[in-house]
Amino acid sequence: MNLLDKKGFILDIDGVIGRGDKPIIEGVEGVRRLKEAGKKLVFVSNNSTRSRRILLDRLQNFGLDVDEGEILVATYATARYIAEEKKNAKVFTTGEIGLIEELKLADLEVVDYKNAEYLVVAQNRNLNYELITKALRLCLKKDVRYVATNPDRIFPGEDGPIPGTGMLIGALYWMTGRMPDVTVGKPSKIIMEQALSILGLKAEEVAVVGDQIDVDVLAGKNIGATTVLVLTGVTNSENLKSLIERFNLRPDFIFSSLLDLARE
Ligand SMILES: [Mg+2]
Repeated sequence: MNLLDKKGFILDIDGVIGRGDKPIIEGVEGVRRLKEAGKKLVFVSNNSTRSRRILLDRLQNFGLDVDEGEILVATYATARYIAEEKKNAKVFTTGEIGLIEELKLADLEVVDYKNAEYLVVAQNRNLNYELITKALRLCLKKDVRYVATNPDRIFPGEDGPIPGTGMLIGALYWMTGRMPDVTVGKPSKIIMEQALSILGLKAEEVAVVGDQIDVDVLAGKNIGATTVLVLTGVTNSENLKSLIERFNLRPDFIFSSLLDLARE
């Protein structure tokens, strides 16, 4: 099978097209070539602190001609999921301003914890004791629906690993024994099915591209799509073999970068 026969591509951002605010040159060039070839693209990120608007700015700063409608980030995906489940729901979140922006855009009511119907757990770089206390109290209420934006334990930061949403999921689990009722971000089918609906394509018509076997490759397999691993991020040529063994998952294709895929 030729990968370029696929009509659409679900592309991870961090570790494929950029690292934080820095572009990955081969990734950016790969996106350009896929666009020139007339492929439908959707950029899917597990980032739980950035709104679509912020990621759009980032991709445009990389020199890419991208539209907000092509961006699916865990913040927006979570807001969209809750709004579909319960219109105008009252939500409390541990997250940052980028997530709050998306929750409000989806007409959800962002409230203090005492009135919340939903607990939305997301990464927060200014996390404090008070915020964890509020999240704990909601987590203890069985009638509160507990939604996590993404399951990532660790994120690759510009200068090294940083704690992900998993630090809070872990803390809440240790305190209460409760795990999220729903997790939206990759490898969950929820965000991947939203990506397919944005593309207007079926799983067999797309390829899922990312740099993490346990996140992107698993997400692709969860919807039955062709999976592609690139070696510009978390997985590289040195750790490839040991990571494939550790996760016991084999991508359909492996390329050194997105450009190598687009050159096929
Ligand atoms: Mg990535």
